Amino acid sequence: MVQDCVNCGSQVKAGWSITFHTSQGAVYKCLRHALGHGPMLKRSLMVCLVVGTALTLINQGDILVAGEWRASFFWKMPLTYATPFMVATLGALLNSRR
Ligand SMILES: [Zn+2]
Repeated sequence: MVQDCVNCGSQVKAGWSITFHTSQGAVYKCLRHALGHGPMLKRSLMVCLVVGTALTLINQGDILVAGEWRASFFWKMPLTYATPFMVATLGALLNSRR
């Protein structure tokens, strides 16, 4: 079965379209437009803030408290926040795939 992307109208093969449930009912999007779906990004951002902060406190809390910020801290911090964002987004996309 082929679905039309609600944003660009392109036809997406079965298994590659992503379904989002909105107030207007189910809408189908191609991967490109699904990646920019606002409500999904907002939810992923919330997960990122909560889980990223918890992971930062668990893994870097002693460094934060001691004030001994090493160079590695500055590349670990963004990755610590980016990982739950990517996991939440990928999970949403895979669960919504049709
Ligand atoms: Zn599209």
